[in-house]
Amino acid sequence: MEIKTKLSIGDSMFIITKTEYNKPIVCDACGGDGFIKLRNLDEIECPKCYGKTYLENKGIESWKIFDDRRPDSFLHVCGRLVGKIDIEVSKDGRKKELDIKIKYTPKGICNYFYETEVFKTEEAALIECNKRNAALVN
Ligand SMILES: [Zn+2]
Repeated sequence: MEIKTKLSIGDSMFIITKTEYNKPIVCDACGGDGFIKLRNLDEIECPKCYGKTYLENKGIESWKIFDDRRPDSFLHVCGRLVGKIDIEVSKDGRKKELDIKIKYTPKGICNYFYETEVFKTEEAALIECNKRNAALVN
């Protein structure tokens, strides 16, 4: 088995990251009351929102290149060179294909980033951000 990695040790890495939104919406089952009135007029906790009155509404807002220009950013301090590459190969019994996860850790850092979020050039990272942003339904 041969596994190709996008980057090698010592390569520069450009990381893309997502921002997420959380805009809870009023529960449509209880209308935001948190309880439901039964026919016999008993009130029970809303089985859809569990009495919270709202429903979670989370999603991806946008993708952007991880900002490593801030002076307090760990990438700014340690550079963005690949220091470690971890490859995880597993197989779910029901699946035909292997599940391959490639993780890159910048030099001197313990945070890793998945291959799907790491790019060799800033241009490639930007193209991917634009592609993912265009596919978002907001
Ligand atoms: Zn409810």
